Amino acid sequence: MDQLEGLPPEVWVHVFSFLSTKEKHTVRLCCRSMKRLVDHPCLWKNHTVVLSDLRRYTYGFWDTLNHRKLTRVAVRHLRRKEWRRLVKFLPSLTAMVFMDGERTYREKYLDSLAHFPDLREFGVRNVTWDEAMLGRSVNAQLTERLTHLSVCNVRLTCTVNFINTVALLVNLKFLLFHQEGKAYWPHRVRPVPGSVFHHMLLNLKKLEHLSWGMRGEPPQPLPNDYFSPTDPEQPGVPQYGGPALTSLELFNYPESILPENALKSLTSLRSLMVRYSYIREGIKCRLKSWLSPLQQLETLTIIGDNTLSSYTTTLPSSITRLTLRVGITLKDMDLIAPSIPGLKHLDIEQNRSSGSLCRRIPMLFPQLRTLRIRFLRREPERDLLNILQLQHLERLELMVDRLFIHQEHFNKHKWPSPRVQELIDQLRRLSNYRISITTEMRQRNLLRECDCEIDWIVRKQEPPCPALPSRPPLRSSPNPP
Ligand SMILES: [Zn+2]
Repeated sequence: MDQLEGLPPEVWVHVFSFLSTKEKHTVRLCCRSMKRLVDHPCLWKNHTVVLSDLRRYTYGFWDTLNHRKLTRVAVRHLRRKEWRRLVKFLPSLTAMVFMDGERTYREKYLDSLAHFPDLREFGVRNVTWDEAMLGRSVNAQLTERLTHLSVCNVRLTCTVNFINTVALLVNLKFLLFHQEGKAYWPHRVRPVPGSVFHHMLLNLKKLEHLSWGMRGEPPQPLPNDYFSPTDPEQPGVPQYGGPALTSLELFNYPESILPENALKSLTSLRSLMVRYSYIREGIKCRLKSWLSPLQQLETLTIIGDNTLSSYTTTLPSSITRLTLRVGITLKDMDLIAPSIPGLKHLDIEQNRSSGSLCRRIPMLFPQLRTLRIRFLRREPERDLLNILQLQHLERLELMVDRLFIHQEHFNKHKWPSPRVQELIDQLRRLSNYRISITTEMRQRNLLRECDCEIDWIVRKQEPPCPALPSRPPLRSSPNPP
């Protein structure tokens, strides 16, 4: 250590950049100089800190946050005094997300947002509002300021009013709106009406990312032009081309309500995620025809319960990043591989019936730079070493599902097990340390990623158990000590 202390601080900071948040917190305990280095702002960029019961935090805690220049927070609920503390100690807040506040809120609850002049990103999850959520006073403060808005599973007094208010946030680049769930009363599901949705789309001229979702199946199909409004300002252009829209997420839009040509005018899309809750028997999946006009598509994510071939095996050749949270067979992989020869990033699940993906992937996708495999209900085996054949691979992520972790925890095993760790060490050595391998779950961006996807994984993989919480616990960067 005596010799190492002579290293320039930049080198230390670079070394620390390879550590997880947990490891960085361990480094802080070494000595004062390490603590100072590991709190360098560039190591905490874009971290979101989860705050609860703000009265218990000391001045030292707030100093640490400010030293790290942390300006993103997630909170469950703020009492009036806690709002005041936050305004006092973190006035430079840029992003805030409210999660799972178990009470009913009124319009004035968000008035304090006006005290954060740098606030650009705002999110709300799993709560009830019994007055307008973005009322007139809040909206006056945020109209020009907000660039990111994320609202998932929030009970609103009037969805139409809310969307009309969102249409005024002219600088929005990112919008996530997943309607509150009424899955048990499908006839009560009311999608945002086409005219209201169109008004919002046409007003938000800077919108780059739209995540649009609902729970349950509305009784009536949506109009054919739901995602293609006519733009009155451009009479020569027959339909909305999404001036800046390059990324779309469709959450739970069943086949029965969106037509085959639903995305025909969104030709500028570079990223598409489709999450299916189910495919009704007898109705053909429309994903193939949704994809056909998207010739610039680079990123595709398909999430659903069926095997890949139930959705499509025809993909645009421009795709370089593919995420499949669906049942995979080796035959499906053989079918899709020739259509996407330039694939560089793959995120996939290994289930019991899919055969050895590790053996097949290097043959089918030799250009891969990153690979993420989630192993369902079993650990990786020796065939993992086949990954070495991927000559351009830089990063490998190995995951197991939550159920596996639960079981192994009760059996006093840990992930990765010594056997898997040995395989990983072998892979590292044999690749001459070219491949960086991780087994830790990536941290969720709490503002951009809601609970919908996690709910889906939990529903799919975990048996109902009254002892388990209905929602996953808050997960983010742990609070600094
Ligand atoms: Zn959601």
